[in-house]
Amino acid sequence: MKFINDRRQCGTRLVIMHKLCDVALACCLFASLSVLLIAHARAAEPTANAVKEQFSIFEVAMEKVANQYGSDNRQVLTQLQTIEAQVGSLKDFAALSAYRCYLTKQLKDMSATQAVLANLKNKVPEISAKPAIQAAIELCQMYAEEDPQKRDQHLARAFHLIKTTQAATLRYWISTMYIELTTRQGRARDAIDAAKIALGVARANNDRFRQAGSLRSLALVEVDFGDKEDALIHIDEAVALYRQINPDSFNTTGLLNRAYILMSLKRYDDSLKAYREVEQIAIKQKEDTVPPIVWSNYADIAYAQGNFQQAHKEIKRLLEWSQQHQDVFLNSYAKMTAALLAVESKNLEQAQSLFADALQIFQKEDHQVEIRDFYGNIATAYFKNGYYKQAYAALEKKLELNSSIEQQSRGHAANELRELLKTEERIKENLTLQAEVEKSRLNIQRWVFLALLLMLALAWSARLFMQTRKRNTALLVENKELDYQRFQDPLTQLFNRRYVMENSAAIWDKIQQQSAAILIIDADHFKKINDNFGHPAGDAALIEIARRIKLTMRDSDIVVRWGGEEFLVCSFACNAEQARIMVSRVLEELRRSTLEFAGKTIALSASIGYVLAPLQGQTKGFIEFDDSVKLADAALYLAKTTGRNRAVGVEKILQPQRTPTELCEQLAQAARAGEVQMKETLGPVADAS
Ligand code: GH3
Ligand code: MG
Ligand code: MG
Repeated sequence: MKFINDRRQCGTRLVIMHKLCDVALACCLFASLSVLLIAHARAAEPTANAVKEQFSIFEVAMEKVANQYGSDNRQVLTQLQTIEAQVGSLKDFAALSAYRCYLTKQLKDMSATQAVLANLKNKVPEISAKPAIQAAIELCQMYAEEDPQKRDQHLARAFHLIKTTQAATLRYWISTMYIELTTRQGRARDAIDAAKIALGVARANNDRFRQAGSLRSLALVEVDFGDKEDALIHIDEAVALYRQINPDSFNTTGLLNRAYILMSLKRYDDSLKAYREVEQIAIKQKEDTVPPIVWSNYADIAYAQGNFQQAHKEIKRLLEWSQQHQDVFLNSYAKMTAALLAVESKNLEQAQSLFADALQIFQKEDHQVEIRDFYGNIATAYFKNGYYKQAYAALEKKLELNSSIEQQSRGHAANELRELLKTEERIKENLTLQAEVEKSRLNIQRWVFLALLLMLALAWSARLFMQTRKRNTALLVENKELDYQRFQDPLTQLFNRRYVMENSAAIWDKIQQQSAAILIIDADHFKKINDNFGHPAGDAALIEIARRIKLTMRDSDIVVRWGGEEFLVCSFACNAEQARIMVSRVLEELRRSTLEFAGKTIALSASIGYVLAPLQGQTKGFIEFDDSVKLADAALYLAKTTGRNRAVGVEKILQPQRTPTELCEQLAQAARAGEVQMKETLGPVADAS
């Protein structure tokens, strides 16, 4: 008869503590009833301590029914009615009621469960106040409850109640379930207390099977909470007991537990040997569910030893098997190990996905210890492979779970926590280092970026500056060009009259500083040139006259086409003597050669009127630029009227008899009157008239 069908009892790390309470309850009940029969058959002498742990006649009868009809809940219920008359105490009644609640719950007959519960509560107050009845009520309420948390609360209350009772069946039953609850919640001390109560009941009744079961539970609790040496002692004891009970048939569960504890002690070779042995026995005994559990442990050992290829192989067949047999827990364990392997092969995405999958069923069943261990394992794997951020997150999760788990087993837990904190510090250091590296990298990046930006800005500004400067220069040139055009005579390329008009003040300033000779040069008989040779010839003659005047002058002199065939020259730093030489040169230059134009020979000559400026001597009023030009013009008139091809200059005012205007208008009279100093310069005589 297979009493226990709890994966936890299979004892691999991978399958600890996830059995539902009701299954555990059924198993415990069957186990207790069987042992009861054996105990009675042996009629062993009860020890002083065991008196209160002894099974009653009714409890023995109840176990008989369970053994006989155990697989048929309805039949068990019916048969229980036949032994009801044997109920001899409140603890018998409590045990019967609790069993009925369990059975009706299994049959999903909730109204029947409620009826049993109501019957328990309706007992006269002094009776229902008894701890055994109270414990049974809590147990029934647990069965009637759907909310897992509330179920746990009822079980916890039931456990505290049976601690002080003599109800052996309920004590074993409830404490066994309580081991599962406390282990699941990480409450090591409570789990060990519960295991000791279960062991006490087993020992009191000289029940080797139940003793072995309790020792296994104890060993599993111990290994789960780090007391591994004690765990090995207790599991060895359990295995020896199983051998005594049935020397011909091995209890694979005990052997699995032993192999697992050896693995926890990192005695991998011993563990592998033990697993290989149990695998062979299981095959021989046709226990099909055992080999996959062994494979999962093979995978864990291979992973722990760094033999990832082997681990992959084991996980592959485990995944296939668990999917085929729809074993969600083994599937989750397989995925968990697969996640660790994915971390090793740097496949982070796959690892995270597998890990999330693996967690699901344990989260659903509130297996905090498993979840915590999962986080711990993956944190180690992440850390080992340089995924510090992920490691830190997983570790934080683990620590969070640790603090939420009521940690009463301080011995190993404290060590583990210390280890964890050390790891955490290492991770934090690494993270800080990483963060600093990252920070300085970012800083460098930022500076490089800024420098680039600055360079770009500079380049851009330089470009803009250059462009602007170029444009400004162009504009200046353009303006100059425009100005030039504005002030330039298109035919002769000399300054035009507008130039002098608009700059007369500046010109006069310069004349006052440096003194100058102002000349008006007028082509002689120009009308005739036009008439005789045509207008284009006239133009050409004008261009040539302009060229020759310009040739005679210095670069600093201002040469202007004053209008028509008249030119104005402002020759700076020029005294009377220099002026005479200058006009003589102009006259000579014009007369020096004829102009050949379209096969025609054109003779050139001009008359010049000039004035030295500022004019020396006093007039009735000051002679400025305009009057100087007018006076030059008046002198020109004299040159024209006295025969052309000559220059007449006003060099000095000798007597201040007239106003400047009068002087301009009556220059000939003034000259005759000796009021001005004049100078006539004749041009060279040429063949042309
Ligand atoms: P004078 O010796 O007395 O100065 O006689 P002139 O013929 O030079 O003087 P006048 O003032 O009688 O005639 C000036 C002529 O100059 C008239 C005009 O047609 C001509 N002239 C003025 N400007 C231009 C020009 O740009 N091109 C040509 N071809 N002829 C011009
Ligand atoms: Mg003229
Ligand atoms: Mg003329």
